[in-house]
Amino acid sequence: MSRLQGILHQRCPRCQRGAIFRAPIWRGILALHERCAVCGLRYHREPGYFLGAMYISYMLMLPAAILLCLTIWYFSGWPFDIVVLATFIAGLPLVPPVMRWARVLWLYFDRTLDPDLALLDTGAYLTAMIEISSSLGHCPLGLGLRSSGATGATVVRVGGFADRYLP
Ligand SMILES: [Zn+2]
Repeated sequence: MSRLQGILHQRCPRCQRGAIFRAPIWRGILALHERCAVCGLRYHREPGYFLGAMYISYMLMLPAAILLCLTIWYFSGWPFDIVVLATFIAGLPLVPPVMRWARVLWLYFDRTLDPDLALLDTGAYLTAMIEISSSLGHCPLGLGLRSSGATGATVVRVGGFADRYLP
């Protein structure tokens, strides 16, 4: 699935497979999954993370509101204050879907600009972090290391994310 299809289907910005929302819109406008069920990407990256989505909401709502206002004004012939009130009422049903799309677009926008967690997918990055951890004698980024006796593989736990295996 391409990134555009991922946005259209409201899928994870990293793998484009896991759903972002865990319920239909009528059962919770902003009912996000904590993480992607497929790749483990954490959607709610930090406190206040979705503040950025509010700006996208404005950008989506403003042209829609202007168009709605002009349409009502053109066809109704009402006074301007009534037109504004009618625009507000007629625009209310747009708010829930716009809020959802704003979050989806924000996730894609933010993950494109700052895909730091995606870097953790590369073995090279993990190896570098392990070397830093080892040289410091502790784990600066909550990176835990333990050996698995059965396979001899080293299991790396990254901040509570899924276990990853290094050769
Ligand atoms: Zn994913």
